[in-house]
Amino acid sequence: MYKLSKSISRLRIKCKNEPHGCAATFPLSEEYCHSTACLFEPVACPHQGCGAQVLRRDLETHAQRCEHWRQLCPMGCGTLLSLQTQAQHNCYRQLRQECEAQRQTHRAIAATLQRKMRKMQNTMAHMKRQIGLICESLEVLDSQEENTGETSTTSTSSSSSTSSSSS
Ligand SMILES: [Zn+2]
Ligand SMILES: [Zn+2]
Ligand SMILES: [Zn+2]
Repeated sequence: MYKLSKSISRLRIKCKNEPHGCAATFPLSEEYCHSTACLFEPVACPHQGCGAQVLRRDLETHAQRCEHWRQLCPMGCGTLLSLQTQAQHNCYRQLRQECEAQRQTHRAIAATLQRKMRKMQNTMAHMKRQIGLICESLEVLDSQEENTGETSTTSTSSSSSTSSSSS
């Protein structure tokens, strides 16, 4: 019995990654140990959102070219770099672009406010004209009333004068 287990543990087995190209053979007891280091073991890409399974020996190459590669700018400007942007990334230019974009949004907001103000000014001018017209028509009414009053007094005075002149 002791002999049998000893011979089993001595039995060399092939790596389960043989189909991927691993030619290693080892005692059964070392299978786990080998699989953690086997270059032909499929492992997951560490980049978030990738999900690719690559052989351990290809992982470094894949990770460097993986389109899900993301890293904060090592200079500390706070930009999240991707493969496409890291080559031409320049902290100063990036910050200037962000600043320019912000300035443009501010300009757009200012333009909208100006448009609204002009609209309000137009409405106010229109209202002023309306009020002016109303005032004018009221003045006309007033003067008409005054005129009728005056004519009545003048007519009475003239009649009295004529009466006095006749007597
Ligand atoms: Zn192997
Ligand atoms: Zn990947
Ligand atoms: Zn940067």
